[in-house]
Amino acid sequence: MRIAVCPGSFDPITLGHLDIIRRAAKLFDQVIVLVSINAAKNSCSFTREERLHLIEKAIVGMENVRVDSTDGLLADYLRDAHACAIVKGLRAVSDFEYEFQMSLANKRLNPDAETIFFTAAAENMYLSSSIVKQIASFGGDISEFVPGCILEEIKERLCQKRPGE
Ligand code: ADP
Repeated sequence: MRIAVCPGSFDPITLGHLDIIRRAAKLFDQVIVLVSINAAKNSCSFTREERLHLIEKAIVGMENVRVDSTDGLLADYLRDAHACAIVKGLRAVSDFEYEFQMSLANKRLNPDAETIFFTAAAENMYLSSSIVKQIASFGGDISEFVPGCILEEIKERLCQKRPGE
């Protein structure tokens, strides 16, 4: 059984993420979409539960894909889950340096951890969770960027202002 992990913040999941997950699901027996903490990012707009819920909805019908979250090291998660690969998406050159460093660090921590990079689809090259949030915050149309089944939920949630915002 070949298990791959697709880690990320997924704040929220976009069509760019979903494309990578779908492609990974074709290559591996099982794919775990892992909501993980990125120490380089300050704070998330969606709670962990919200992010997990949105991913659950987005992957409906993808039989060999499931969702999980971790507070720990990805290298340890892979070992515990008996996963053999980390699957990541590469957009522009700007992703490369960070991802290369992460992949080397993970390999040091867990020599069995192979990182596989998929090139982003041309239409998703400039798509990120933060772009989605920026557009939505100005009332822009994000329907081309997030899965249709969670569009309304994301829009409603991003319109809600929290006290102090
Ligand atoms: P972001 O960089 O948008 O905040 P994440 O930290 O959740 O997203 O990223 C998780 C993984 O998904 C990373 O490997 C990232 O490169 C990949 N990814 C994010 N957006 C896209 C996209 N538009 N196309 C392909 N891969 C993507």
